[in-house]
Amino acid sequence: MTHTFVTGTATHIGGRDSNQDAWLVSDGLFAVADGLGGLQDGEVASRLTLDTFDAAFTADRTVSGLLGACREANRAVWRQANGQDATMGSTLAVLAMTSDAAAIVLHVGDSRLYRLRNGRLEQLTHDHTVIADLMRAGELSESDAQTHPYRNVLTRAIGVAPEVDIDHSGASCEPGDRFVLCSDGLFKVLSTDELKVMLASEVEPQRSADQLVANAVKREAEDNVTAVIIDVH
Ligand code: MG
Repeated sequence: MTHTFVTGTATHIGGRDSNQDAWLVSDGLFAVADGLGGLQDGEVASRLTLDTFDAAFTADRTVSGLLGACREANRAVWRQANGQDATMGSTLAVLAMTSDAAAIVLHVGDSRLYRLRNGRLEQLTHDHTVIADLMRAGELSESDAQTHPYRNVLTRAIGVAPEVDIDHSGASCEPGDRFVLCSDGLFKVLSTDELKVMLASEVEPQRSADQLVANAVKREAEDNVTAVIIDVH
């Protein structure tokens, strides 16, 4: 089944000195990357991740091509970091329309994909962070997680090792669905309920993306904030 997509994108530097978030809206390929590293290194890493990923997936739109594109992005950032003797990396959250298995969600790190369907908001990724692992194991409550000393520590990222573990799965995708890709700067200041209310109250995707990011920034978001909205028709 072929869908058409209408998208909206917004990003903001938040309280940081540079915006290390990056987004991608391409042919049947949507992604957010949140760079890690020193001032320019994080920016380089997130952009390189998305550019490499986009080019490789465009050449092979199968699921195996999608996974290969992620590994290629990982190698590109790893090589760049080693070449500059810098520490850099990136998260990557992707919604991709593959040629052999329809919609696939793929992610590394703590950027997220949500789907709003019939008024219900579902998170389709689970964060690769120390605290998310502890919460899944029942060893940490949600309120304790907010002050945990390791709350910003990722367990996986693009470009920090020669190989990367990738999570991917099929994503049911129907007309009327609204998908949201976002960096942690958004969901760390807006609760899931607030996200749901905001997403459901604005029909037009660009205005909705602008509204999400503006509301996060109003909460004095310390981090960069990025949202990509994908409406399925
Ligand atoms: Mg961030």
